[in-house]
Amino acid sequence: MNTDILIIGGGPAGLFCALRAAAGGLSATVLEKNPRPGKKLLVTGSGQCNLTNTAPIEMFLKAYGDKGRFVKPALMEFPNTSLMEFFSTRGVSLEERHKGKVFPRSGRAGDILELLMNQCRQAGVDIRCNRTVTTLSREGTGFRATAGGENHSARFVLVSCGGASWPGTGSTGDGYALVAALGHRIVVPHPSLTPVYPSAFDASSCSGIALSDTPVTLWRGGKKIGGRIGDLLFTHQGLSGPGILDFSRDFQPGDEIRLQLVRTTDREQIEKDIISVCNNSPRKSLKNLLSGFNLPETLILVVLKRCGIDPETTGAAFDKSSRRILAEALYGLRYIIRETGGFDEAMATAGGVDTAEVKSKTMESRVVPGLYFAGEVLDVDGDTGGFNLQFAFSSGALAAEGMRHRNLEEL
Ligand SMILES: Cc1cc2nc3c(=O)[nH]c(=O)nc-3n(C[C@H](O)[C@H](O)[C@H](O)COP(=O)(O)OP(=O)(O)OC[C@H]3O[C@@H](n4cnc5c(N)ncnc54)[C@H](O)[C@@H]3O)c2cc1C
Repeated sequence: MNTDILIIGGGPAGLFCALRAAAGGLSATVLEKNPRPGKKLLVTGSGQCNLTNTAPIEMFLKAYGDKGRFVKPALMEFPNTSLMEFFSTRGVSLEERHKGKVFPRSGRAGDILELLMNQCRQAGVDIRCNRTVTTLSREGTGFRATAGGENHSARFVLVSCGGASWPGTGSTGDGYALVAALGHRIVVPHPSLTPVYPSAFDASSCSGIALSDTPVTLWRGGKKIGGRIGDLLFTHQGLSGPGILDFSRDFQPGDEIRLQLVRTTDREQIEKDIISVCNNSPRKSLKNLLSGFNLPETLILVVLKRCGIDPETTGAAFDKSSRRILAEALYGLRYIIRETGGFDEAMATAGGVDTAEVKSKTMESRVVPGLYFAGEVLDVDGDTGGFNLQFAFSSGALAAEGMRHRNLEEL
């Protein structure tokens, strides 16, 4: 064997597993297709790297959709507190920002990558770049991988090729074919953490407007199938912001989303509030009266246009049926989803290696002993806020621990 562990993919999951395994006495070789590892890490958080979140474990478990149970052992093995300690005690000072998001204080994702690379070097990890692994097969009790003309053998393999989003970073979904050839089931990958493009989008004028903590509900075939509250951002062609991005894994073309623009318990209350502002200032125009609802004027104009209401209508002249229509729109501004952003826009991939075939306590395959997984190649995708990187590091740490144990058992 060339090495104890062959790691396919030099993203955060692969690099972190390598250095933890090397620190635990195993030799590790990372094969990375790009000229340098960590290309995607450098673009995270708009280049500032939202490393993790200060949320308590219960909130973490909810941030991965229905995968909370699967990710728990990894998060317990190496939680957010350990990740923050790892970086801050080695010279990368961190800071907490809005909604518990943790970033390097320098605002440079490069600092995170640099520290990982230095740690790998110190631990003796062999990092080989410009190596695209094209086949992975069993060889005796171990494995053989080919990258270009080279063959690499190892007792253990970690597949950490990432997902299929932002393919320009090297994450082109290669891991799926490599492990499908060994008998693994792949849940069809699709874009997650991606914006939404409604048909007949009428709010381009609102581009750049952000609304905080807005309730969004999802409707399919006339039935409500989910709801979330989050920050929302209008763009030229559609909707984005955490409240949409985090929900996007559930969206399908043809679904309806409803944005509750006014925080209240029901539509009737909005109607009562409209009556009250109209009665208080009967000579003012609706456009001005509605500013009391804390919505930007551009958005108010879009809503009024949608309802077929002249913005110059005075409070006194505002009739009951129009009032109903307006209250309905403010309670749930409706958009039919034409499409969601593709892999070139998505910040994560939903789907991937089926977690039912992976042991959550070690990250080892249930199908092929000695084969391990970490990071986004798995069918795990978290919300925005640092949850995806935390899972990459935690699963990398857990896989390293799993291999270390396996190694001791086999000695
Ligand atoms: C624009 C953007 C912003 C993001 N911001 C954040 C954020 O702020 N916080 C957060 O938590 N998450 C963020 N994410 C998500 C996060 O980057 C990923 O979840 C994380 O990088 C996954 O780590 P990974 O190691 O599993 O995979 P990756 O980082 O994708 O790394 C996989 C590596 O494998 C290599 N590879 C692929 N195929 C092969 C092959 N055949 N042979 C050899 N090497 C191969 C690739 O070149 C790549 O370097 C963001 C994603 C994007 C696209």
